[in-house]
Amino acid sequence: MSALSPKIEHLFSQTGDKQSDMLAELITWCDINTGSTNYAGLMQLSEVLLSKLSLFGGSEFVRLPDRVVVNDQGEEVSFSSPPIVRLNLEHEGKPSILLVGHYDTVYDENHVFQNCTDLGNGNINGPGIADLKGGLSVMFKALECLQEVGLMEEIGIEVLLNPDEEIGSPCSGAYLVERAKYHDVGLIFEPSLPDGTLVGERKGSGNFTIRVNGKSAHAGRDIESGRNALVHLTKLLNEINALHGQKHGLTVNIANIQGGGALNVVPDLAVGRFNCRIESNNNIAWLEDKLAAMVAGYDAVEGYQVTLFGGITRRPKPLTKANQNLQNFITETGGLLGIDVAYRATGGVCDGNNLSQSGLPNVDTLGVRGGDIHSINEYMVIDSLAERSKFVALILIRMANGEFDFIRDSEKLSKA
Ligand SMILES: [Zn+2]
Repeated sequence: MSALSPKIEHLFSQTGDKQSDMLAELITWCDINTGSTNYAGLMQLSEVLLSKLSLFGGSEFVRLPDRVVVNDQGEEVSFSSPPIVRLNLEHEGKPSILLVGHYDTVYDENHVFQNCTDLGNGNINGPGIADLKGGLSVMFKALECLQEVGLMEEIGIEVLLNPDEEIGSPCSGAYLVERAKYHDVGLIFEPSLPDGTLVGERKGSGNFTIRVNGKSAHAGRDIESGRNALVHLTKLLNEINALHGQKHGLTVNIANIQGGGALNVVPDLAVGRFNCRIESNNNIAWLEDKLAAMVAGYDAVEGYQVTLFGGITRRPKPLTKANQNLQNFITETGGLLGIDVAYRATGGVCDGNNLSQSGLPNVDTLGVRGGDIHSINEYMVIDSLAERSKFVALILIRMANGEFDFIRDSEKLSKA
């Protein structure tokens, strides 16, 4: 492909000039706390994003099912979920792109990290500034560019902004998997590594909770009649932990145990939590069967009830032919802007896993460059705001111009 057209060159020089406006707006988004469980904060930002997306067409809220969690008492408790903010611009017969970003962060409303600080070295520190609010800014700017070059009608665009990615998309995940069936390509705006390296393959992941009910008794007078839920749980968790490494790339992290109280009482309740990561889709059923069999074995012991909650909610994202095709195109597009694109595999998961589950090729780290995410040192490279906006804009423009050969891993469904 030839160098950029004068029209695009001009547009991109304007994009660079607008970076300080982008940054000022982004800081106002980071000032609104949107920890994944902060319903009020998430609702507040969702309204801002809804009006932002309305600049491109009819934006709307998609209501989500409640979030159900097993608390430390082993009870299932429900919480209302904020909505997905959605924009859907279909163009019959044209290829279509699904753009995804989350607006929650890992920092709840009581966290010490609530504001942005310019670090003076070209980086800015802030809660969610890289993961993923900076990515939202990039997404919107890229759409503006597509609009300005008059190509918005040449390609279908659906935007989904979800409120629960940082806790595994428990409410929005199924909707993402469903919508992914209707598109040709997915672009997700998670941050890239500080040097711009994108993520290629990802493992799958699941969070699990086990509740053990036993029987309490006096530890001195009557210990034989007790059924120690904590001991029963820890034996079971030890067996589960031994699954680690039994399949290639399978990891098990026993993460949390709750239970027990006074030292003279046999504990009658214990709750354990763990995470599993898995590399191959072929091993998911194996893992789930193993866990079910172990839990059934412990449940069958007289005097105990053992219940398993959770499952593999994000399937592995392997490097398929369609994903390789998309990665190659993105690398080539980066080259037109002088951006060297490299890819790296990771055990981390994101909504790219959900899109892959529906056979949708996707690149999921097209947001800003940044680092130390999920910590109080989270930062964004400021210049990556304009840089990544141009990069994504050029990807969209070239796709709308018919310069990309769209292929999927499974057949695309027609619009419902
Ligand atoms: Zn993220």
